[in-house]
Formats: sequence, C-alpha cells, structure tokens
Amino acid sequence: MSNLVAIVGRPNVGKSTFFNRLIQKRQAIVDDTSGVTRDRHYGKSEWVGKEFTVIDTGGYVVGSDDTFEEEIRKQVELAIDEANVILFVVDNQAGLTDMDKEVGNLLRRTKKPTFLVVNKVDTNKNIHDTYEFYNLGIEKMHTISAMTGSGTGELLDDVVDCFEDVVYEDPYEGLPRVTIVGRPNAGKSTFINALLGEERNIVTDIAGTTRDSIETLYNKFGQEFVLVDTAGMRKKGKVSEDLEFYSVMRSIRSIEECDVCVLVIDATRGIEAQDLNILYLAERNKKGVVILINKWDLVEKETNTMKEFEDSIRRRIAPFNDVPILFISALTKQRVHKAVETFIQVFENRSRRIRTSKLNEIMLPIIEITPPPAIKGKYIKIKYVTQLPTKTPQFAFFANLPQYVKEPYKRFIENHLRREFDFTGVPIEIYFRKK
Ligand code: GDP
Ligand code: GDP
Repeated sequence: MSNLVAIVGRPNVGKSTFFNRLIQKRQAIVDDTSGVTRDRHYGKSEWVGKEFTVIDTGGYVVGSDDTFEEEIRKQVELAIDEANVILFVVDNQAGLTDMDKEVGNLLRRTKKPTFLVVNKVDTNKNIHDTYEFYNLGIEKMHTISAMTGSGTGELLDDVVDCFEDVVYEDPYEGLPRVTIVGRPNAGKSTFINALLGEERNIVTDIAGTTRDSIETLYNKFGQEFVLVDTAGMRKKGKVSEDLEFYSVMRSIRSIEECDVCVLVIDATRGIEAQDLNILYLAERNKKGVVILINKWDLVEKETNTMKEFEDSIRRRIAPFNDVPILFISALTKQRVHKAVETFIQVFENRSRRIRTSKLNEIMLPIIEITPPPAIKGKYIKIKYVTQLPTKTPQFAFFANLPQYVKEPYKRFIENHLRREFDFTGVPIEIYFRKK
C-alpha cells in the first residue's frame, strides 16, 4: 500500500514549487508519453528507494464557494484523515501569519507525523529568523528552499522514516480488483446495490486493516472479483462530499490498488474535469478502465443520441480512448450484467500475453510497409518485437537506432497493436531498444 504525503499550508508559501520538485523526474517521463489532462496536484515520488504518493492539497480547494478560511480548514482536515505524513509549509520571508497559526492549531490535534517546513530559506543567513515558527508548537521542523532544493534531502530522509511498512494480507489474493469511482451522485451506490442486491448483507467489510474502502466478493454467473466501493467510504467522512479534492483523495488509493477502474458518469451531466482527472490517474497507474454512462433512463433519445454521446466522450478522453463505454441505468438495472462482463473482459485484456512468434508475424509486415521515417538520412530498422514479462502490457521493439523513433510512430504502433490484439480498456506501453 502506497504511502501518502500531503502538503498543506496557506497560499503562496511555495507548496506547488515544492510539490513540483518532488515529482519532477517522473512527471517529465509521464508527460512525454501520455496525458492531455494532467493532474498538477498529484504525483509519485521516491526517496532512497521508497516510493510514495504526494498530493498538493492547495491545488484542489480553489474555486469553491467557501470562504478562504473554511477551505483551508477542510484541506487540513482531509489531509489529517487521509495522509500518512503531513508537510505543513510556511513562508520564512513572510513570517508567521494568523492563518499559519490556525493551520497549526488544526494540525496539533493529529497524531500523524507532521513536519513544519519553513520554506524560502534560500541562503544560510536567513536561518536565524526562523525561530518564531516554533510558536506553532510543531516539533519536527525543517528549513528548506523549494526553489533551490536546499534542505529538502534532510526533510525527505525524515519523512520516509515515518512510513509504516504495512504488510497487507489480501484475503482475495489473485482475484480481479474492481473499483467503482466517480463524482458524488453519479450513481455509484445505486450501481453497487444493483450488482449485489440482497447479498449486501454479507458484505465483508474487512476490519483490522488500515484500508477504509469497502470490499465485497462478487461471485455470480461464473464471474468472481472483488468490488471496491468508494461511495461507501465517504459515509464516515465528516466534510462536505461534493468537494472535488475529497473524492479525488478518496479515489487515489482505491485506484492505485485496483486492476480495473470503473468510472461512473451521470448521463445528465456528461464528463467533467474531475472525471478526466480520475481517468488520468488510472491511466498513469496502468489500470484497466471501463466507463459507465449511468442514468441513461433519464436521457431523451433520438436515433443517434448514443453514438453522438459516445463519440464526444472518446474525443474528450483521447488519446487513451480505446476503452469500453457502456450506457446503463443502475436504477432499472439496464445493462448492469453487461457491465460486469466488461470488467472481467478488461481484466483479461490487461493480463493478455501475446506469443513472440505471433507478435512478430503480425507486426513486422506492418512495420515493413510503414517503417519509421528516416532521420538525417539514417534509416531506422526495427528487427524484432517481444512482450515484456510485466504485469501490464508492455512491448519492446528492437531497432538499430531506437532513439530516433518519435512519438507519432509510437502511436502508430500502438494503434496497430490495439487493432490486431484486444487491449480494450488497458493502457499499453511501447519501448524501443537497441539491438
Ligand atoms: P503555493 O500557493 O503555496 O503553491 O505557492 P507557490 O509554489 O505557487 O509559490 C509562491 C511564490 O513563492 C512563487 O512566486 C514562487 O516562485 C515563490 N517560491 C516558492 N518557493 C520558494 C523558495 O524556496 N524561495 C523563494 N525565494 N521563493 C520561493
Ligand atoms: P453516488 O453518490 O455516486 O453513490 O450516487 P447514488 O447511488 O447515491 O445516486 C445518486 C442519486 O441518483 C440517487 O437519487 C439515485 O436514486 C439516483 N440514480 C442513481 N442511478 C440512477 C439511474 O440509473 N437512473 C436514475 N433515474 N437515477 C439514478
């Protein structure tokens, strides 16, 4: 289970600068290969071999109707609920402010490891005036410069020391894990009820673990998988659930741990920014994806309504749009079983292994007809392809000049792989390597 580090603090103290520093290297790699919709407030980082998830809480609260103070309070409470480690950033150049004190008061109540991060200490001569921050009553204090990076190494050393190595025994080891996510009121609970019906009584809410999602073994019509209900999680939350940040935080973990991520969308509202964020999270974590357009019973239909709806969604979610899109009604149970079959199908697609001989037999002729464009008069020759022995589909193409293969050609290859083999709903990765 991934450790979650939350960055909190009032605006302008340097949270996003620090966040970007933490996720820099990986982000660059990711941006290269995918994502039109990029979540700028969530990312993966690593320090001394320990991987963790970082969330810049500040990024999620702007734009609600609450007062500023109210937003900051929610942000901090959510961080306390969800994170393993909290980094409270203050601004050394601005000095201690009333809002810092309020945040400090909220944080003093938590037992979670909390670090006071005094930022903008760009040179050593600033250090003597950091002492006023001790008034916040947070013992673990570090001075850093998010801009230059100074002090961040020592801070991270201490942060990763706080990580618990939670060894989680999964009683459903080996079964597909399907998580149901989506905006509040999209119909997640209704959908889950439609699936589970009376079996709801035997919901196995696993106690004694740090997991707070609700997991149920689904076993019907020969389909067996573990259903993770993120809607159920919010019931114990204490803050307003329509907050984007809230559902994103809740979704992150369940997405990171699933095999197939099922995004429920309210047909009467269509796809929105938050849905794209969730899809992006799933794609970045290489999870299977199924989109359910729910409440289809409420939509007035003409001949092409479904097709047009589907096309518009595919355009929005491009480039990764080879995903199943189903139109359902959780309320009337229309196509609910079809949805279940689709989860299983996507799970299978994600585990698909193509034999090397078959792969070469199909792909090499395609490459021969349309080779990568020559660069500076040099011809790129792809000789051989194999699927890597990874959990999710990854392919290595061996070539004389792999560094010259550009993004459009990668897309071309990916499209052909998708056309020839069924990888619907699954992100695939393609590498070019030196032969
Ligand atoms: P946020 O609102 O907390 O996310 O703050 P930002 O990361 O947007 O930073 C606010 C301003 O402080 C920007 O102009 C940054 O360039 C600046 N800043 C951030 N970190 C440092 C730092 O370590 N030193 C200095 N001098 N400026 C910084
Ligand atoms: P959640 O917040 O995503 O768990 O959403 P709920 O399952 O609580 O549903 C929100 C509201 O939408 C409830 O009033 C449901 O009765 C309604 N709803 C859910 N699915 C459907 C559907 O397929 N058709 C219609 N008409 N209403 C639905």
